[in-house]
Formats: sequence, C-alpha cells, structure tokens
Amino acid sequence: VGELASLMNVNPTEVISVCFSLGVMVTMNQRLEADTLLLVADEFGYKIEFQDADLEEELEETEDAAEDLEPRAPIVTVMGHVDHGKTSLLDYIRKTNVIAGESGGITQHIGAYNVKLEKGQRITFLDTPGHEAFTAMRARGAQITDIVIIVIAADDDVMPQTKEAIAHAQAAGVPMIIALNKVDKPTANPDKIREQLSAMNVLVEEWGGNVQSQEISAKFGNNVDQLLEKVLLQAEMLELKANPDRDAVGTVIEASLDKGRGYVTTLLVQNGTLRVGDYLLAGKNHGKVKAMLDERGKNLKEAGPSIPVTILGLDGAPTAGDKFRVFGEESEAKAIAVKRGQLQRELSIRTKKHTTLEELGRRIALGEFKELNIILKGDVDGSVEALSDQLQRLSTEEISVNILHQGVGPITESDVNLATASDAIIIGFNVRAGANAKDLADKEEIEIRTYSVIYAAIEEVKEAMEGMLSPEI
Ligand code: GDP
Repeated sequence: VGELASLMNVNPTEVISVCFSLGVMVTMNQRLEADTLLLVADEFGYKIEFQDADLEEELEETEDAAEDLEPRAPIVTVMGHVDHGKTSLLDYIRKTNVIAGESGGITQHIGAYNVKLEKGQRITFLDTPGHEAFTAMRARGAQITDIVIIVIAADDDVMPQTKEAIAHAQAAGVPMIIALNKVDKPTANPDKIREQLSAMNVLVEEWGGNVQSQEISAKFGNNVDQLLEKVLLQAEMLELKANPDRDAVGTVIEASLDKGRGYVTTLLVQNGTLRVGDYLLAGKNHGKVKAMLDERGKNLKEAGPSIPVTILGLDGAPTAGDKFRVFGEESEAKAIAVKRGQLQRELSIRTKKHTTLEELGRRIALGEFKELNIILKGDVDGSVEALSDQLQRLSTEEISVNILHQGVGPITESDVNLATASDAIIIGFNVRAGANAKDLADKEEIEIRTYSVIYAAIEEVKEAMEGMLSPEI
C-alpha cells in the first residue's frame, strides 16, 4: 500500500480508502493482490504492467488451508559476544543429539542441522553462530529464524556484541531465550547478568519479566536439555506450522563450488516437501535436484518443512538469503531465472531502496512515515548516550525516532546490514565507516552521516523531519 501510494505520489490514506470502497480492508504495510492493484491504480488513472517475476512472487504467497497445516520444528539462531560459548553450545547439542543408530559418519558443516530430542521433538539450528548471517539474511528480506538464543558468559558482563545481538533480535521481532553460560566457573555471577539485562529493559522470567532464561554450562553440557525444553516451550507458543504436502519453498543458507561435485547449496525447506528430481529456482539460479544430503552426508530422497539439506544440481551459487521454489517444468524455472537476472539489473538502476534524511521530510508530508530508525555509533559512551537521548526526544506525534542500536566503535558491515534490514539511517559521531562497511552501504544505498558536533547532528535530523533539510553539496 505504502509503496503504491509513493509510486503514484498520493497519500497512502487515499489508497486505503479506495481499497475500502472496493471492499478490501488494508493497512499501510500490506501487500495487495494483483487484481486489487490493477483496480486501485486505475482509480488514480494509472495502468499497471506486471512483469513475470512479480507475478511469480505473488504465487509464492499462496496460503495453505488450515487443515493442511502440520506442526513444524522451530528454527533457532545462537547469538552472543565472542568467547561467551556459542560454538561450544552448538557443538554440544550437535554431538549429544545424533539420532540413535545414525551416529558415526562425518558431520559436515552445512550451515544448519536438525536434531531429534528424546521425546521425538525436533529443533533446527542455524549453524553460523553470531548475528552476521542472521542480519545479512534479513537484509535480503529472508527471515527464517523463529527463536534466538542469546548466550552470555556469567563470569563476564553483558558485552557490546551481546547488546548488538539483542538489538538485532528485537528489531526482527524474534523472541529471545537467554542462556547464562559458564555457570560451572567459580567466578560466575548470573544475578549480575540478570541485573545488567534488566537495566536495558530485558527482564528475565525469574525477575518477573517475560524473557525465558536458563543457566547452563555449554562446555560440560549441564542443563542444556532444560534450555532446549524452553526452546520447545517458546516454539509451542508460536504455533509454528507448515504444509508438507505441496511443492517446496524455502531459503538458501549457503552455497559453494566444489571441485568434484559442482555447485553445492544448502537449503532450508520452509514449506512443502523437497524431493530428488525436483526442478528448482533459487535466486537467479536453477537446476534439477540431482542429489540431496543431510549434515552427515547421508543421502535423502525428500525433506519436509524446517529440514536443512545440501543439494547438488544448480547451475550456479545463489546468495545466502535467496528464496527458492520448486517448479513443475524446468523451462519455467529457467525462464524466470533469466528474467530475474534482467529485472535485478534494471531495478538496481531505477530504484532508491532506503530512507535518506533528504527524502524524509517529503515522505513524512505524504503520511508515509511513522518511524525514523537510527543506528548510532560514536567514539565514547558518554557522547553516544547524550546524542541518543536527544535524538529520541525529537519524536513527535506523527513520527517516532527509534534508536535501533547504539554502540562505541567504527561503523561496521554489521551496522549496515542491520540498517538494510530495518530501513534505518546510520549516524556516526566522531567515528567513520570502515572501507568494507562503506562499500556495502553504497551497494545497499544506506545513508551514513557523520558528525563531530552533537548539536549539528540534532539540528540536521530535526530539519529533515520538518522537510527543511537543504540538499548536501
Ligand atoms: P564463541 O566465541 O561464543 O563461539 O565461544 P566458544 O564456544 O568458542 O567458547 C570460548 C571459550 O569458552 C572456549 O575456550 C570454551 O571452552 C569456553 N567455554 C564455553 N562454554 C563454557 C562453559 O560452559 N564453561 C567453561 N568453563 N568454559 C566454557
């Protein structure tokens, strides 16, 4: 709705009211069906031409009937500060939960694995600890994680990366479970961590909050089973479901070129069932699934919802975060792959994807904007706090200023990825962006503004919100 309004240069409320007169109740961020799009545009004197790739995305949204849905395993990402025990936790879970009779064989790193617990329940872990992969995927529009485990070493403090991980989970609206790790150590002080968390408004259940937490020792495996119970409990509340009885759709986890085997792609099936022999479209690549393997290198014939698999047979390496889907005909998959390549090139020339301060005023005036998301980095804690505080105070009734993440240090690729995923701008105070972050920001069209005077930063954001920012020279 918002996008269409902006393309036609009208107020979104006008689009909403036209939809309403057509008997379609919509909100600002809603996706419109193709028919509705045609009618609405017509009301405003515009004609819409669909490109095949657009139509194909529409197809992807076909909803399953409630009676076809079955429970599926939760998909979990582990995040936290370096050395707090993410890898140890993932390794422990992988090692202790091999399905009976299937142990042995080399466990290969394929970016994700699925474990079966004692009572038969399953959990899928994305095996790339840290928030980089999580955010990079979200930046590409793929949100595959259902639950985030935040690992915090109880003999340490809530560290910058912990805060960052929490910010990422919150920005994605994914529930968190806190794992207070290393409690076997005599110096561990989990209460101190709980207190530090509460100071940032993350209140764990023991303290009357609604965030689950569990004391564990990832190294020795103590209470990891209880942590997994809590994951299952959280999953139950989310009522995760999928329809195994349809053509598979899902997301690319990673892809590489193997000398002997050709392109090797790890996919996570999110709906439907993927089978050997299926024709697949994944991002701009396509091919027939020649072979399908699990993380133990065992051949599979099919894989249902929430199951990660490695496949052979694509004609190239798609990007992590790309969607995939199965087609009845190879020619169909191929035609769309080719068109997607073209479309992507055209789109990248035509569109400006993200918010810039300059554009902000215009979009606020159109009623398009409710939130200005900011990622704030600075050289010292004190000035970051002060700037963050003053920026948030700029919020008005029409628009709220959200500081999605604030921290000390240079602007990193991870900041740019978070900005891409959440349509935020990045403000640096006495810090700059590294070369990689800069390149990524250019590519993703993320605005980075740097200041050395707090007052100047406040003034510019304020002027931008009022639509009065003069263009940068
Ligand atoms: P990551 O950087 O978050 O992946 O952390 P690692 O899993 O690599 O762990 C960092 C270090 O902490 C390693 O030396 C681990 O052996 C150690 N470690 C992890 N979990 C525990 C734990 O529960 N107890 C103790 N004593 N050490 C741990």
